[in-house]
Amino acid sequence: MKAEMWCFFISQVPRRQLMTTETCDIVVVGGGTAGCFAAATAAQNGLDVAILERKNEEEGGHIACGDAIKGKSSFPDVIDREYLREESFTNQNIQRALFINPQGDNYNIPFQDGPGSVIDRKRYGEVLLEEADRVGAEIHYNTVVTDVKQNGRVTGVSAKRNGHSIDYEADIVIDAAGALSILQDKVDFEGSTYDTNVDYSQFCSAYREVIETPEPVEYDDAIVFKPTKELGYLWYFPRTENEINAGLGFQMNKPPMPLVDVLKDDLETRPEFKNATVKDKLGAALPTRRPYDSAVAPGFMSVGDAAGHVNPTTGGGIPGAAKAGHWAAEVATEAIADGDLSESALWEYNWRVQTDFGKRFAAMDLYNIFGGAHEVDELTEIVTALPGEMLVDLMGTKGETSLDLFNKLKTGLVTAVKTRGHWGTLYEGYQVSNLASELKAIYDEYPTSPEEFEAWRGRRDALMDEVYELTGAESKY
Ligand SMILES: Cc1cc2nc3c(=O)[nH]c(=O)nc-3n(C[C@H](O)[C@H](O)[C@H](O)COP(=O)(O)OP(=O)(O)OC[C@H]3O[C@@H](n4cnc5c(N)ncnc54)[C@H](O)[C@@H]3O)c2cc1C
Repeated sequence: MKAEMWCFFISQVPRRQLMTTETCDIVVVGGGTAGCFAAATAAQNGLDVAILERKNEEEGGHIACGDAIKGKSSFPDVIDREYLREESFTNQNIQRALFINPQGDNYNIPFQDGPGSVIDRKRYGEVLLEEADRVGAEIHYNTVVTDVKQNGRVTGVSAKRNGHSIDYEADIVIDAAGALSILQDKVDFEGSTYDTNVDYSQFCSAYREVIETPEPVEYDDAIVFKPTKELGYLWYFPRTENEINAGLGFQMNKPPMPLVDVLKDDLETRPEFKNATVKDKLGAALPTRRPYDSAVAPGFMSVGDAAGHVNPTTGGGIPGAAKAGHWAAEVATEAIADGDLSESALWEYNWRVQTDFGKRFAAMDLYNIFGGAHEVDELTEIVTALPGEMLVDLMGTKGETSLDLFNKLKTGLVTAVKTRGHWGTLYEGYQVSNLASELKAIYDEYPTSPEEFEAWRGRRDALMDEVYELTGAESKY
C-alpha cells in the first residue's frame, strides 16, 4: 500500500477471511471521463477519494467512442489540460462537417466556433486516469462494483476484486459507471426525486472500428456523416490523415441493425478503405435521451452517461461527462464539509447541470422525437432540397429555428419547388423548434431546491404533451 494512500483499511484481512472494508470520503464508481474528473476535483479539494474501475490497468481508458470533440471543448481545470491535449488530441484541425447525401449532392457545414478535434480515445482515457492519480485520487483497478450499501441513504458499495469481496464505506458514492449503470438497479430511490423513468428504448447501440488506411484520406479536416435507416448515422472521423474512426449506431426503440455488417458494407463502397487494416473494434450503449430530471438521492450522485449527459442527437458525451463529474464533486465537497448528505444538500448539482447543457440537450431531444415520427427518406429529401446556409441554420446546436428561416424556405423559388410536398413536415419542424425554445426557458427555471421539483416537472411535462400531440410520436418517457 502506498504511503500517501487515501483510503485505509478499517479491518485487516485475516488469513482465511476474504471480506475487507475500506473507507473514504467519496467513492467514485467508474474510471471514464466523468469518474476521473469527479475524482480529480474531490482530490484537489483535499478529500480521500477512490475510483473503482472494473477493468485492469492496461485496459483502463479503452472505451468505445467516435473520438470527436466539437469546438473548443473546455475541460475543467483540475487536471493538466495541456498534457491531455499534447498526448491525445491527434487531429486538432477539424474545420467542417461533411454530410454524405445518398440522394444527391453532399453538404459541407463549416465550423463557426473554431476547429474541432479527434482524439486517440485510449490515450485520452489513460491520461485522465494518470492525472486523477497524480492529483491524489486512488485508483482500484479490477474492482467490479456489484451492489450498494444503504440505510436510508447510500453509505457505500460492495465490490469484487480478484475473487475477494470488499465493502467500501463513504460519505458519498458518485455513480460514473456509464450507460445503464448497475448501481441504479440496486439503490432504493423510494422517497427521493432521483429519475427512475429510464428505459432501454431511450438508448442507442453503437459500434466503431479504428482503421488504418494505406493512403491519407481527403477529409482529414472533416468529420463525415452518412444517414442510415432508422434515424441513425454512419461516421468517419479522422484521428490522423490515415487513421479513421468509423462507426454507426441505431436507436434501441427501432428494430435492431446488424451494425458490424452495415459498417462492413459501407466500407466496401469506399475506395480509401481498400487494403486497410482494422486496429481496434468496440461497441457500447449510449443514452440518446434528455438528462435525468434529478440525478441525486441521499449520499448518491450520478454523472456522465449514468445520468444521460449526452447530446441526444449527436451522441457527443465527453464534454458533458467532464463538467458533470467536476460539478458533482464540488457540491459533494461542500456537503461533506457541512455534514449534510441529504438530497437537498446535493441539489445544487442538479441545478448546475440543468441550467447549463441540460436545457440544450433536453431541447435537442425534441428533434429526436420529431425525427422518430417521420420516415428517414422524407427527412433526407428535405435536407437534400435545402441550400447549405439554411442547413447550417437548421443544424445549429442552439436547438432553435427562426420563422424567418421557415418563410425563406417557402418563398425561395428553388427551395419552394424542391420542398413541395414536405411543407407540412417543415412547418411541424418549425413548431417543434418553438417548443424547444420554450422548453429551454422552463429549464432555465429549474428549481433551486427539491421542494419545488414536482411543480417544475408538471410544467415541463405539459410542454412535452404538446410535442407528442404535434408530432404524433409515442411518449418517450
Ligand atoms: C460507439 C460510441 C461512439 C461515441 N462517440 C462519441 C464522440 O465521438 N464524441 C463524444 O463526445 N462522445 C462520444 N460517445 C459518448 C461518450 O463516449 C460517452 O458519453 C462518455 O464516454 C461518457 O463518459 P462516462 O465517464 O460517463 O462513462 P464511460 O466512459 O462509459 O465510463 C464508465 C466506466 O465505468 C466502468 N464501470 C462500469 N460499470 C462498472 C462497475 N460495475 N464496477 C466498476 N467499474 C464499472 C467502465 O469500465 C468504464 O470505465 C460515444 C459513445 C459510443 C458508445
